[in-house]
Amino acid sequence: PESKLPALGTTIFTQMSALAAQHQAINLSQGFPDFDGPALLQERLAWHVANGANQYAPMTGVQALREAIVDKTAELYGYRPDANTDITVTAGATEALYAAITALVRPGDEVICFDPSYDSYAPAVALSGGVVKRIALQPPQFRVDWQAFTALLSPRTRLVILNTPHNPSATVWQKSDFAALWQAIAQHEIYVLSDEVYEHICFADEGHASVLAHPQLRERAVAVSSFGKTFHMTGWKIGYSVAPAALSAEIRKVHQYLTFAVNTPAQLAIADMLRAQPGHYRELPDFYRTRRDRFIQALASSRFEILPCEGTYFLLADYSAISDLDDVSFCQWLTKEVGVAAIPLSVFCADPFPHKLIRLCFAKQEATLDAAAERLCRL
Ligand code: PMP
Ligand code: GLN
Repeated sequence: PESKLPALGTTIFTQMSALAAQHQAINLSQGFPDFDGPALLQERLAWHVANGANQYAPMTGVQALREAIVDKTAELYGYRPDANTDITVTAGATEALYAAITALVRPGDEVICFDPSYDSYAPAVALSGGVVKRIALQPPQFRVDWQAFTALLSPRTRLVILNTPHNPSATVWQKSDFAALWQAIAQHEIYVLSDEVYEHICFADEGHASVLAHPQLRERAVAVSSFGKTFHMTGWKIGYSVAPAALSAEIRKVHQYLTFAVNTPAQLAIADMLRAQPGHYRELPDFYRTRRDRFIQALASSRFEILPCEGTYFLLADYSAISDLDDVSFCQWLTKEVGVAAIPLSVFCADPFPHKLIRLCFAKQEATLDAAAERLCRL
């Protein structure tokens, strides 16, 4: 058939993880932990499976989980969404993003993305007939130029997609960024999709700035998160969206025919976990800061230049002093010849991205990080 997405191939994450496996390289490419999530979560999952929670969940998500999400949101962002109308539990953040984009974007609508941007946004926009308008963020700060942003707005602008803490740059938005965003869009009917899957992996002193903490923006916003990141269980694929009732109603129209409902026992186990051990997500910054700092320390004698990392479990490394190869070729070479797999940054950008930057995932055991650093220090 004629392809609806002719330019699209297999995702870089699948490609690099396959190449890593083929060459038995240490896989710091695709973002996932090489350790397990909390024991309690596994016990609660087994318990719910053994106790009959094996049929369809409610379309919007199990009540206990939606209520736990409300309490977590209120504690962290000073805003209490409605468990019945505002929270929708989805098959990972990926589904929430797709459902929100599908619900909001009409043919010909323009959607603003900040490049480098996570790979799932643009194909979803394209399938809805929307047009992506991109703002290129420049390393090492990757800050938004709000003048350039305002200049990009048009009567067709419908949605802005942002991501903080940001994959792949590891930078975070500040409150002032949200204030600038509000100032730019307040007079227009423009919606905001805020990808906050790394909300609990933020090292900035002022903590994670959520769109949900902005009283005006959150009336127009869909915030998306993922328990895969929070509980080190990327394979469970449970995420959610938080949006005002009218927006959630539209998202749910898509969700109910995309998946209808998601895994019942996993939702119940996560609800139990959030209630029993809220300390888990509160301690996540320290948990990952230790790994980040250990990895940076281990790379100190390498010829890579490490960029600042304020959030996520990714570290950017500039290899200008090591090689002239473009980033895609360098990552292939690094996997095959050095035995460390990484992600090239240019794949997150539509326009040429001439920088020599790779992304390394540090959600790994200390031994994995040490072994990878030892190889990278040989270059
Ligand atoms: N957004 C970003 C920025 C991500 O990094 C990821 C996954 N790594 C997702 C969305 C998708 O999350 P999930 O695995 O819960 O679908
Ligand atoms: N989001 C993960 C990353 O950035 C990968 C998710 C996927 O493989 N689709 O590495």
